[in-house]
Amino acid sequence: MPLNIAIQKKGRLYTESIQLLKEAGLKVDNSKDQLKAKVQKFDAEVMFLRNSDIPKYLEDGVVDLAIIGENTLIEKEADISVLQQLGFSKCRLSIALPKGSDYKNINSLEGQKIATSYPNTLQSYLNEKNVKAEIHRISGSVEIAPNIGLADAVCDLVSSGSTLFKNGLEEKEIILKSEACIAVNKNLGAEKLELIDELLFRIQSVLKGRNNKYILMNVPNKSIDAVSKILPVLKSPTVLPLVEEGWSSLHSVISEDDFWSVIKELKSLGAEGILVVPIEKMVV
Ligand code: AMP
Repeated sequence: MPLNIAIQKKGRLYTESIQLLKEAGLKVDNSKDQLKAKVQKFDAEVMFLRNSDIPKYLEDGVVDLAIIGENTLIEKEADISVLQQLGFSKCRLSIALPKGSDYKNINSLEGQKIATSYPNTLQSYLNEKNVKAEIHRISGSVEIAPNIGLADAVCDLVSSGSTLFKNGLEEKEIILKSEACIAVNKNLGAEKLELIDELLFRIQSVLKGRNNKYILMNVPNKSIDAVSKILPVLKSPTVLPLVEEGWSSLHSVISEDDFWSVIKELKSLGAEGILVVPIEKMVV
């Protein structure tokens, strides 16, 4: 039986989900506007579903694995397992109020009306903080609710904050941080688990590649040891002699996060001609 993979039908997660599957070697035949597509070279099918329906399908076993935002899983209180965070669709669920509102802390929301598409997540947060507020559930364009007198505050997803800004709202409380993840049904048989292990291995290789860069540079021989010590990502750097005496070409891998601080150190050790190249996949 093929692995049933669900991704969002259309919306923010769609493009990056298809791209990730493609980079993991799963070419999805999604040329037509269809609900289900075959995958080439991997025993799987991809279903295109509404984001908010995916947790239930996962829980019921209609779908084995999904790429979905953690925020949706939390809101739907889905009993599923999260195997891997994916590093895209990063956002936060925040409470925001019109600019200039009298807000000191979460207790300022006592008795207030809050509009949201995330009523369960908001209610749990308010319960935890012992605040009683009136929750207005709306399914879209939450940010206009205060302007039309429907609510005093909103609880909505924020990434850059520009939508809040355009609507004259100020972010006051972050109640959840979220990104896309791989979630799976909890009761899968051995055959499906084997396919998931293979897929996860491929996805992790893609993610590692995205987080690292291949770096090569010319280094005076006397600095090889010092340079090797500050490039510790894989086993050890490759050192090849240059035609010019006293110099070597040194190749290694560097984490995206450390890139700029390490470059400075390399230069101070005499490294020249530093080239940094993207890595497509990384198996360690
Ligand atoms: P949508 O395509 O608007 O239904 O959003 C799908 C998912 O994208 C959400 O459930 C979040 O996980 C994620 N997302 C990331 N940033 C944002 C944002 N600024 N607004 C809405 N959703 C976001």
